[in-house]
Amino acid sequence: MLKGWLDRWRGRGKTISRLKPVIIPRDHHAVSRRDISSVAVKTLYRLHDGGYQAFLIGGGVRDVLLGMQPKDFDIATSATPEQVKQLFGNQCQIIGRRFRLAHVRWGREVIEVATFRAHHSEGDAQSAKTNAEGLILRDNVWGNIEEDAARRDFTINAIYYNIADFSLWDFAHGMKDLNARVLRLIGDPTTRYREDPVRMLRAIRFAGKLGFTIEDKTAQAISELAYLLEDVSSHRLYDECQKLFSAGYSLPVLDLLHEFGLFDALFPEADLFPNDTLWQLTAESTDERVAEGKGINPAFFYAAMLWGVVQDRQQALQNNGIPPVPAWQQASQQVLAIQHARTAIPRHISQAIRDIWEMQPKLEQPRPRQVEATVQSERFRAAYDFLVLRELAGEETSGMGAWWTRWQDADPGLRAEMARALDDKPAAAKKKRRRKPSSNA
Ligand code: ATP
Ligand code: MG
Repeated sequence: MLKGWLDRWRGRGKTISRLKPVIIPRDHHAVSRRDISSVAVKTLYRLHDGGYQAFLIGGGVRDVLLGMQPKDFDIATSATPEQVKQLFGNQCQIIGRRFRLAHVRWGREVIEVATFRAHHSEGDAQSAKTNAEGLILRDNVWGNIEEDAARRDFTINAIYYNIADFSLWDFAHGMKDLNARVLRLIGDPTTRYREDPVRMLRAIRFAGKLGFTIEDKTAQAISELAYLLEDVSSHRLYDECQKLFSAGYSLPVLDLLHEFGLFDALFPEADLFPNDTLWQLTAESTDERVAEGKGINPAFFYAAMLWGVVQDRQQALQNNGIPPVPAWQQASQQVLAIQHARTAIPRHISQAIRDIWEMQPKLEQPRPRQVEATVQSERFRAAYDFLVLRELAGEETSGMGAWWTRWQDADPGLRAEMARALDDKPAAAKKKRRRKPSSNA
């Protein structure tokens, strides 16, 4: 069926503007209301009872079909954001400009409710806008479900669950691709990536998360069009980066970003000084933490990705006669400014990255009397974890990662002894530093 549609639309600028569904009745599929968060079910029913069409869509359906726990539940409806607002009152907030949608809040849980959209070419200047390259700048042309399905990214993300009769509406042979474990873009990949280059990153994210193969054409276009990510706003890239590295699959995602030539688009300088082992260890430990339900700090990931760059910059500044501490400060600032231009890192995260870096020399050469205070400092945990990973990655750290591990496990007597034993090294270093200016004079 899709092939027929494709053929019909081929003569029309490679745009598919609507798709017809294959409807799979309740007793022929495995999605049950039990698999869906109860507040998502309530939201679906309230829309349905209000006289609107209401479907669960995207990851909420896809992940259930794969026997996985969905990260969130998204709803697509015939109601406009204002009509959703009318139904849910204060529980509902309308958000977004480029892509307007309603957030329905149930305690801590938020359900995203998006109105069916038509292809942006159907709209007026108020509701739709693209630039000369085909990039969608505004995407708020309301439509029907058949039009909505054609705008979805991958076939496996265009399976809708109908609350009216619990059937699945499969618009692009998503079930077939789901079973074959294939990620396939709906429509012509080049056009779809030009409309929204973030879809390239989404391809990598889903391939990494689900372990799916990326279909040939969907894959080929990525390496060719990677440069389009330069036009995407740095705020959107930061958000997407978060999703890539915080879902528990950052190890495969990191490999795929390199394989498809997208890594540089996110980290423009990192590959100048690659730290493959450190990056891999960081990704592994991040994924382990996510699997254990522990929180993760984005600062840690950035600190690792840019570690080689900041060290090089620091060394260069020091070679130019700038003392070590200001050299660290300037290097951190410069490296983060360049990274910020690409993925707008929020200020508190940049501060945390800077702290992790600037604490490394302090942890490698601690002053005996400051050991206690260092451990108490807010950023110790992250900086220490980072030092341990560097040590594991084979960096020369004089074994200080292991030293701090031992120190934390030691009783007060042993701690005092360990601190005393540190005495010689920093003293020698201090002496050397003090002598330098007088020998120059
Ligand atoms: P997850 O929530 O697990 O990250 P998801 O598939 O639900 O995966 P969302 O970002 O929550 O992804 O988006 C919900 C749905 O909206 C997607 O499944 C897809 O159908 C559609 N969608 C999201 N972003 C895009 C996009 N950039 N282009 C086209 N369709 C998109
Ligand atoms: Mg989702």
